[in-house]
Amino acid sequence: MKHEKPEKVLTICPFCGGGCGIYLNIEDGKITGTEPDKLHPVNEGELCVKGYYGYEYVQDSRRLTSPLVKKEGSFVSVSWDEALDYVAERLKTIKQESGPDAFALFTSARSISEDNYIAQKFARAVMGTNNVDHCARL
Ligand code: SF4
Repeated sequence: MKHEKPEKVLTICPFCGGGCGIYLNIEDGKITGTEPDKLHPVNEGELCVKGYYGYEYVQDSRRLTSPLVKKEGSFVSVSWDEALDYVAERLKTIKQESGPDAFALFTSARSISEDNYIAQKFARAVMGTNNVDHCARL
């Protein structure tokens, strides 16, 4: 088996909104560990335990790789177009039948600020509700 040369990929830790600079150590196309970016202004060479060990989900065989929609009691893999059409239709129906406040939106600390902004805008401007919260408060 031919082994590729190990490499380090500079990125941002995806685990919280802190945004620490992190190197992923890659060997044969797989992440084998992480190291802090010593020059990053946020973490200055430090990482918490999640930054050091929280990468294993990336290669987990149970990770979802396509949208799933429940059909006749079982989850079925579908295209993004079908999944998004399904979600849009369901949200429209819920709003029409039960009113805007039947909907609540919870965002994630793993999302960037811009995504969280768009999400709350969607809740308020499209769904018509102020039921917006964030996982940091749960
Ligand atoms: S290393 Fe820890 S503090 Fe830094 S971004 Fe990742 S989870 Fe947040």
